[in-house]
Parts: sequence; structure tokens; C-alpha cells
Amino acid sequence: MATTNKEWYVEIGPDKVDSAVYLAAHLMLEHVKSELQLDDITIRWIKKDDPTFAKLEKLLAEIMRTKPQVFDSEPLSGFTKSFHHNAIWIRADISPKEAAKTVAHEVRHLWQLKHYRLPITEEEREAAEKDAMEYEEQAYKAVFGR
Ligand SMILES: [Zn+2]
Repeated sequence: MATTNKEWYVEIGPDKVDSAVYLAAHLMLEHVKSELQLDDITIRWIKKDDPTFAKLEKLLAEIMRTKPQVFDSEPLSGFTKSFHHNAIWIRADISPKEAAKTVAHEVRHLWQLKHYRLPITEEEREAAEKDAMEYEEQAYKAVFGR
């Protein structure tokens, strides 16, 4: 398995997030929550982590049998978990515009999961992704006007 383009991320508290990014994300969250009729969605924040430090932290968590705050992944700007309908994870170390769009994108995935089953085939996954990409553009225009 190729792991060369994997990156390490760490979850951080909202107090560590740049205020412009935080505000843009939360403005968008309020818009998409009312538009898609979803409530109780929490933004959780992540940022890129130093790989050496992240690996050590993961190793320590294994030894201590605690849950690591770090994980590795393909490069991403945000994600959802299909079994966790109340949270979206958003990168804090991106621009306010990208953060706002990522919020709309990830909330749209939660909306998809609420109304349809989890995409199984490649075709379904592509359709879900296309829908979320279109939605983030539309939502960004609606909130920020361009
Ligand atoms: Zn997506």
C-alpha cells in the first residue's frame, strides 16, 4: 500500500482556531443547518501535524491505552463519519473561504446520510461527491455573495 502521500492530522480545540476561519465556518454552519433542516451539528477542528511528533504521540497513546488525538490520512480539508451524525471535522489551517466551503460540503454529506443510505458503489460515491461539491459552491454564494 502506498503511504507516501499520507499526512498526519491532530484534533485541536476551538480556542486554537484563527478567528476569521472560525467565524466563516460558523456563519456557514448556521446557513446550511437551517437550509438542510439539520440541527445539533458540531464543528470539530483538526490541523496538519508534524509526522515525527504525530507518530510518537500515537505510539504513546498505544502504550498508555488511551485514544490518540492524531491520525494519518490522504490529504483532506474535512470529513464526516457515517456513524457520527452530529459532527463534522474541519481543517483549521486553511483559508476562511475554504473552511466555509468545507463546512457546507461535509454538512451536505450528513444530509445525504440522513436521507439516503451510505453510498456503496463507485457510481454512488461519485454522485454523492458531485452533489456535495455543487452544494458547497451554491452555499458559499448564498452566504458570502460570490
Ligand atoms: Zn466529499
